[in-house]
Amino acid sequence: MPIHYDDEVKITKINMGPYNNNGYIVVCPDTNEGVIIDTPAEPEKLLSELHNVQIKAILITHGHQDHLLGFSEITSSVNAPVGVGTNDTSLLPSEPSFLINDGDTIEFGNQSIKAISTPGHTDGSTCYLIGKHLFSGDTLFPGGPGKSRSPEAFEQELESITSKLLTLPSETNVYPGHGDDTNIANAKEQYEVFRSKSHPKDLHGDVSWLES
Ligand SMILES: [Zn+2]
Repeated sequence: MPIHYDDEVKITKINMGPYNNNGYIVVCPDTNEGVIIDTPAEPEKLLSELHNVQIKAILITHGHQDHLLGFSEITSSVNAPVGVGTNDTSLLPSEPSFLINDGDTIEFGNQSIKAISTPGHTDGSTCYLIGKHLFSGDTLFPGGPGKSRSPEAFEQELESITSKLLTLPSETNVYPGHGDDTNIANAKEQYEVFRSKSHPKDLHGDVSWLES
């Protein structure tokens, strides 16, 4: 069952694998062409939701293993080019077909999805935006940013989030790489709470907007 369906886009969200990962299928309803976002474990769950959609690209949000456990099976079952943020290229199990940089657009049917480079969680982390729908990978979750490996990485992730994601329209839906959805209005509100408090200089890891 799609989580969103209108004249412009149909979005199916699939909960996959032991780490509560999400895979997504984003389709142009006029043409039935679409893209896949991320390839976690239990690839058969995603493949069984494809029905007769013509997949034009497989887009990876970032190179962490839990988003790639179904990579080989999905890329060998679906004949479509694979794209990933340039700086995460080396993390993929095999060479991608194309590299994605900030502002690139990927066309399918009458629609296109825009890449937003959001380094921090990984160097090549990329979010994908179509209309009022943002696929945020592990960069932005309900309640906080994705895990950061160092204070510098956290700074970078925060910069990505505040300059590129929280500046999107408030009504933008946010579909993360794990768990539940949120939206930009909630993220902005919670981030303001975080911003109003002082934090240790070395803050990083699992940060919560409301509790850190
Ligand atoms: Zn990750």
